[in-house]
This record gives sequence, C-alpha cells and structure tokens, in this order.
Amino acid sequence: MKDIIFGCGSVGEAFFWNAAESGRSVACFCDDRLAGKGNRFLGRDILTAGEALALYPDAVFLIAIPHAVHIVKSLVRQGAKHWRLAHEILTDDGYREYAYTKQRLLAVQEVEECVQFHRGMNDPQRLIVRSVDLVITERCSLRCRDCSNLMQYYRSPMNLRPTELIRDVDRLLSHVDLLSELRIIGGEPLMHPAFRLIVTELLKRERIGRIVIFTNGTIVPEESALDALANEKTTFMITDYGSLSGNVVKLEEQLSARGISYFTNPIEEWNDCASIVRHGRSLADLTALFDACCAKNLTTLLHGRLYRCPFMANATNLKAIRSASEDSVKLLDLVEMPHGTAKETLRDFLYRRDCFAACDACAGRPYGAKGIPPAIQAAHPLPYVEAP
Ligand code: SF4
Ligand code: SF4
Repeated sequence: MKDIIFGCGSVGEAFFWNAAESGRSVACFCDDRLAGKGNRFLGRDILTAGEALALYPDAVFLIAIPHAVHIVKSLVRQGAKHWRLAHEILTDDGYREYAYTKQRLLAVQEVEECVQFHRGMNDPQRLIVRSVDLVITERCSLRCRDCSNLMQYYRSPMNLRPTELIRDVDRLLSHVDLLSELRIIGGEPLMHPAFRLIVTELLKRERIGRIVIFTNGTIVPEESALDALANEKTTFMITDYGSLSGNVVKLEEQLSARGISYFTNPIEEWNDCASIVRHGRSLADLTALFDACCAKNLTTLLHGRLYRCPFMANATNLKAIRSASEDSVKLLDLVEMPHGTAKETLRDFLYRRDCFAACDACAGRPYGAKGIPPAIQAAHPLPYVEAP
C-alpha cells in the first residue's frame, strides 16, 4: 500500500523522510495550492486529492496539515478510505534530524505543533488552538490595492490599545490549554508604537507556544526592541515584495545577529479576494465556498472578538458587513460561562462549523485559483459601501 502525503510544508518533509527510513513508498504529495502546475516536491508529483485518489484509490493519506478535521472530511467525501495523523507517524523524535527547507528550529517547531495538535484533536479535556492572528494595528506602511486583510479600505486606521490586546489574549488563554502559535499582524505590526511592549508582555504567557511577527520588510525596529524580543519563542515572518520591501536585508541581518529565527517569503502572486460585495449565495454555495477556502483557519482576534479569517474580522470592523452573532465569538461572553461550556463554544466555533453567513460578502480564496500580481499600491484608501 502506498502513502500519499497531504501537505508540502515542514510536516510533509518529516513524513517523507520518515517513510524513507521505514521503507514505505510515497506515491505523491497533495497540496491544493501547488497542484496542477507541473510542480514536484522531493522528487514526487504534487496532485490534487481527486487526481491522487484516481491514481491510487487504496493509498493511505498522511495528513501533514494541522487542521486535519476539514481535510479528512473532504478526503472521505472524495472516496479516501485510509488516513493517518502526525502523532501516529512521528512517534519518536527522529524528525529533529531530518533535512528541511525552512530553518531547522522553525521546521521542528512546526512539526511538533502539528503532532501536538493532532494528538489533542480527540481529547475532550484539552483544547489546543493551532494559531490565532492578533491584529494590533490597522495601519500599514504600504497600501496594497488587493490586501486580503482589507487594509486598503481603512480611512482613519488606528492602533489597538495594548491593555485591550493583552486582556483579550488572556481571556482566550483562560479557556485554552495551549495556543501553539500567536501571529502578530496588522497592517504592519512594527508601526505600532507599543509593539515591543505588547510582544514582550505576550512572551511571558506560558500557554503560547510561539509568537510569529508578520512584517512586510519595510521597517527595522530599534536595536533595543529587537534585543528585548530575542527569545526562542519569537519568529519573524518577512514578506518580501521586492523593491517595496526595502529593508529586508537589514532586518535579516539584525535578526541573525541576535539569533532570532526568521523566514523570508518572496511573493509572486495573490488570490483576487479583496472585494467586499454581497453575493446573495445559497446555503449550499456558502458551504462549498467555505470548504474550498484556504483562509478559513486564519482565526483572527480583533476588538475582543474571534473570527475565522481576516476578511470577516476586518469587513465587520469596517462596518462593510453586518455580521451575524454566530459569525464570531465575543471573548467577554466566555468570561460569563462555566469553563467547560466556554471550551466547547470555542471548540465548536474553531473546528466544527461548515459555513458562515459573512462569507457571502467575500470573493473566496479557493486553493489553486488564478493569481493576480501582488502588492500593487493604491494612492488613496479605496471606497466601499457600508452595510445598511
Ligand atoms: S498586504 Fe500590503 S497593505 Fe496589506 S498588510 Fe500586507 S503590506 Fe500592508
Ligand atoms: S470565503 Fe469565508 S472563510 Fe474564506 S476568506 Fe472569505 S470570508 Fe473568510
């Protein structure tokens, strides 16, 4: 029986080398973002799940993506019979020595998070949250016309207040056993004047596995701020927009000098997903749109509410959509609930929902969609229609 590895990230690499060690045969990789373009990974074709199942109907899918629930549901719908999760495959710490595309420290962290997340999926006592995006500012040093976080629509962008940000994260953590990754985002988070204070305070939270700072490579923080962030839990994720990201090299040098891990991501294309238009979709269409969306697990925390993606969070914040109460979780409401009920509310919201009304205003972010040029700059904030 052949293996098919679902996911071309660090966990997929770990599965591949583990299979090689154990004498198992990997037929191909599946990755909906990369399939269909003749792409290969580690010498194997990258296919869609449907293509892979047509060729290898009895193969075992090794799920190399943390959010396995949606993947398994989708695979079963397409006829898959066998699958295995990360904690069933990586049963010893041999993965620490494998070769990875990313920096080893970062790759190993990702592998460990996935193993932990898969192990916790069926544990009713523990709630492990894979990743949350914390929006600390609506301001950005660029104004990308097609920003999927909708920053191009903000006319008077604001920084969020540090005390509220910390309070909101603490409210979430009080019901979560582990938040594997907290991603600090904006806009451009380095524009927040209290950036250092916010991150250093959050680094003290033991239930946060790592803190990843997303930046567009335009700003190098002061040396004292970088000194304060030097911590094994800190990673910078630098998006490189070429000539627009004029400080990438300088930032990389400063991070290297302090041993802070980073990953630089050159961007070639984006999804065309930044319009805010009500489509009037049926329930079936909303469900299909959500199922196919690559952003549905980018859980976003903004102004005390958790949303399933940055579009829902920012479209609501901009008042461009009137989001139904089921489309988000108000963290203050959790404070009033018994602990077990709050945990179940979060588990249901994060892992069991098949559809959201707010998706009706979104163009969708399907895997493998035709790309558009990234980071085209807009001279002025873009107009949009406020919800009635
Ligand atoms: S996509 Fe552009 S506008 Fe949006 S947050 Fe990134 S750099 Fe800023
Ligand atoms: S389709 Fe829904 S989940 Fe996906 S980005 Fe749009 S609003 Fe978010």
